[in-house]
Amino acid sequence: MADTCNKSGMVTFRKKQENQGLIGLLLIRNWPIKVKIPFFSFLGVSLILLVTFIWFLPFIESRVMEGEEKATMQTVDVAYGVLEHFNHLEITGVYDSQQAKEQARQAINRLRYRDSEYFWVIDESPKMVLHPKYPDLIGKDLTNVADAKGDFPFVEFVKIIKDKEKGFVKQLWPQTIATNNEQTSKTSYVKEFKPWGWIIGSEIDMGEVDRVVSGLRIITIAMASFFAIVTMLLAFLIGHSITKRLVKVIAGLKEVAQGRGSSDQAQCIAITSSDEIGTLSFEFNALMDSISDLSCFRKVIEEDENCNEVYSRLWDVFVEGIGLENPVIYEVEEAHNVMSVAYPMNFQEEDLHCSPDILDQCGLCKAKRTGHPISSLSFHKVCKQFLHIDESIEHVCIPMSIGGGIIGVVQFIFDERAEKFDREKLAIQIDKASQFIKEALPVIESKRLTASLRASTLVDPMTGLHNRRFLQECANNLCSGSKRRGKQIGLLMCDLDFFKQVNDTYGHDVGDEVLKKTADVLRETVRESDLVVRFGGEEFIIILVDVETDEVMGLAEKLRKQVEEAEFPIAGKPPIKKTISIGISIYPEDEDGFWKTLKYADVALYKAKEDGRNRSVRFTKEMWEGQEY
Ligand code: GH3
Ligand code: MG
Ligand code: MG
Repeated sequence: MADTCNKSGMVTFRKKQENQGLIGLLLIRNWPIKVKIPFFSFLGVSLILLVTFIWFLPFIESRVMEGEEKATMQTVDVAYGVLEHFNHLEITGVYDSQQAKEQARQAINRLRYRDSEYFWVIDESPKMVLHPKYPDLIGKDLTNVADAKGDFPFVEFVKIIKDKEKGFVKQLWPQTIATNNEQTSKTSYVKEFKPWGWIIGSEIDMGEVDRVVSGLRIITIAMASFFAIVTMLLAFLIGHSITKRLVKVIAGLKEVAQGRGSSDQAQCIAITSSDEIGTLSFEFNALMDSISDLSCFRKVIEEDENCNEVYSRLWDVFVEGIGLENPVIYEVEEAHNVMSVAYPMNFQEEDLHCSPDILDQCGLCKAKRTGHPISSLSFHKVCKQFLHIDESIEHVCIPMSIGGGIIGVVQFIFDERAEKFDREKLAIQIDKASQFIKEALPVIESKRLTASLRASTLVDPMTGLHNRRFLQECANNLCSGSKRRGKQIGLLMCDLDFFKQVNDTYGHDVGDEVLKKTADVLRETVRESDLVVRFGGEEFIIILVDVETDEVMGLAEKLRKQVEEAEFPIAGKPPIKKTISIGISIYPEDEDGFWKTLKYADVALYKAKEDGRNRSVRFTKEMWEGQEY
């Protein structure tokens, strides 16, 4: 499963790399967001502007024109009503035809709308019947009157009246002096008053309409431009604010991917919003914090002197940093199939939440055996070795797994009844603890390896006893400790009698076996606190810590007897017997210096040999007389 994931991950990654080519750059999805957002905003804005110019402005113009036309039609209808009124007076006999028309002419002549707009009347000849502005034209034939375009508008009026009784006609008139002789475009509305054969009309000043329309156009363009600029500006700012933070996230992640997660505060992204980018920034900062915590932790433990210091720091992180209570760190010794509590140091066997059997047989520990975290929170009573003395006590055990081997287990204990017990929070805490364990693993392993390598240089590989080098390293500590306590150290220099004979008679292998057996006898005879050192060849030194003068002789004799009584088995032959000679000196009773005192023990040993071997001899000053170190 993990393989598949990795493979598919690689494919995606490669695809991403391939997309960076020339074709890749042409794909919009590969464009930087900084470009993408303004680009699409520009596209949207352009579209809106296009719609404004192609549809909205012409629409507005047509609506304005429509409004003008409607208004003109209505006003012409009003004037038409005036004509109807006088026609009615004619029909009813109030006026004769002449009077009625004259009255009507006067009334229309006075009619104004929009301050200066007026009505004119022609007949179907076409001849001017009434024109308030150009009274000179009245009675004149208008057939040949052409406008600036060369059209004959009055002929057009008559034509449209004959076709539709009313309608609009466009014309371009030369302007009056007042307007600098510029041409003016007008649209006239004409309507026939049939009873008198009159055509009444009025104009829409297209120049005025154009002014209104261009006013509207300017407002629309200004608003659209303002909207476009604001949109583009916003798009740029949004794009910039997104990418600015994303670029930081990417740079940070790149560093992490290259294993350079740092505690640099500059890596943090300022959280300026609570949107997705804000959340991303928050999570990124949390990630960087945790990486920085981890890398800082790693740096500190790398400089720790030994494993115990690392365990103690790990324990502090669990308790003080993460808030997990009662962690127990077990150390597994794979070679001997055992495990022991490495931290806390003062942990007693009675405090174990597991069967003590796991200590002697670490394979019984489920986390050690399976290499997986074992949690009773996910499955009750998941581990048979966990003593469920109290049903509400739960455990999570995390194996310290490295290079396929398990070098330890961290156990966390929880009380379900505790007030602050919260499963979700716990899961996060355990995850965090696991990250710290993972970070510490290589350091623990290397420190353990260094320690065991160092230990191996201080131990005699054949007998498993400490060697001369060990004695050289610890002699000073032994002496100062003993002095502090006001106690003495008994030094027994032991040498096998006639050992050469064993080699000569049975061979070197048997000689080795005899040496091993002698080492076992010596180790088993002395106390746990005493030290047995193979000083060289068939010579052993026994260091009796904190002894009284009168005890030393007894202990030496006990040792001598144990060796004397021991049987040394030889393959295919009856066992042989061996004896030792022991020279005894006491520090600081004999001399204030470890190596000088040891020399006295050697002198006493010489005396023991001289006196016939298989004996223990206490050093006396006379033995040293006349000699020098
Ligand atoms: P003495 O009673 O005077 O001590 O006689 P000895 O034979 O024990 O003393 P000697 O010093 O003459 O001989 C010590 C021998 O121990 C010489 C050496 O070959 C042997 N020897 C030293 N180290 C080893 C070892 O690691 N294995 C074996 N098989 N023999 C060893
Ligand atoms: Mg010897
Ligand atoms: Mg010897």
